[in-house]
Amino acid sequence: MNTTQPYVVPFNRPYMTGNELTYIAQAHALGNLAGDGPFTARCQQWLKTHTGSGQVLLTHSCTAALEMAALLLDLRPGDEVIMPSYTFVSTANAFALRGATPVFVDIRRDTLNLDETLVEQAITPKTRAIIVVHYAGVSCEMDMLLAIAAAYGLKVVEDAAQGVLSRYKGRELGAVGDIGAYSFHETKNVISGEGGALLVNRDEFAQQAEIIREKGTDRSRFFRGEVDKYTWQSIGSSFLPSELTAAFLWAQLEQAESLTRRRLALWDTYHASLVELENRGLIRRPVIPAACEHNGHMYYVLLAPDIDRGAVLQHLKSAGVHAVFHYVPLHSAPAGLQIGRAATTLPVTDALSAQLIRLPMWIGLTAEQQAYIVATLTEGVSIARK
Ligand SMILES: *Cc1c(COP(=O)(O)O)cnc(C)c1O
Repeated sequence: MNTTQPYVVPFNRPYMTGNELTYIAQAHALGNLAGDGPFTARCQQWLKTHTGSGQVLLTHSCTAALEMAALLLDLRPGDEVIMPSYTFVSTANAFALRGATPVFVDIRRDTLNLDETLVEQAITPKTRAIIVVHYAGVSCEMDMLLAIAAAYGLKVVEDAAQGVLSRYKGRELGAVGDIGAYSFHETKNVISGEGGALLVNRDEFAQQAEIIREKGTDRSRFFRGEVDKYTWQSIGSSFLPSELTAAFLWAQLEQAESLTRRRLALWDTYHASLVELENRGLIRRPVIPAACEHNGHMYYVLLAPDIDRGAVLQHLKSAGVHAVFHYVPLHSAPAGLQIGRAATTLPVTDALSAQLIRLPMWIGLTAEQQAYIVATLTEGVSIARK
């Protein structure tokens, strides 16, 4: 039994637009419940138009979309893929499932994204792809990464789980590299409980992507009347979400732009309120490079190295504010040590992952709550100086 007090300010609260149940009822009334019905088509078309990607396929998660990417690249044991260590486990798992070796490269101090200046030295004759992660919905330095990939004949996969409706030099994240992956998990900006999408940005992968998603068959072509029966073409799996999930997602996509604006307003409030703590040298606020338009997915602060993070989190918790740390770097996790390899030592990853705190971020958070969070954090960092 949980006897602790409930948090006054939760870390996350999924936002509903109000139309989700209406659309689910429509899917129910139509009796079309399996995947690839009218709501899936509507969501895919919206995402395609919005991102400019050549092909968008809904999946049941971002993890599933990353697994599809690994299948599309036809990765084999012995192949290597370059990625940050500071990321979610799915970035690595999807490729490790194919037998590929994740090669971990350090991150930039400003954005906590893959450090593009360290990628080239991690390339070996076995390298097949660069997997970029747009942390907090802020883009990696894509021009340089794409140039390195082109020079070495590598593919670029974007883990844009957090990057829905973010841009790099005007281009939508997920649609910049060869393949992109979105998440609609309930902790993300646009949600369907569990959910995701694969963005196929190169025609060479388009037909195979449909086959992999439909259990390795050409069923999608069969439904379009392009073949008279469908058969097993290659290995694949079932990566489609049901229409109930797509109906929920449609209610969110319809309002995706306004959801993003509301998150950005919360983000801006935190950013303005925390200037003083930064000026006092107690925290560092997020940095948004000029090439990036972000989506307000996350607000984090990096504590000064002489501040005890555990004590700050405990102080926030006892005041009813649920703030959290984030990734335990993959290169030092048990599976990372066994399956992956760090290209070099990763001093920035090791240091910054231990200093980071994410603050509550959800639509509905009030100005009073944000002021309370900032005041409590300010107290906490003063108390927790080592
Ligand atoms: C959330 C997240 C994922 C996984 O998304 P799911 O939809 O839960 O599979 C993968 N990568 C990153 C960077 C994420 O933030």
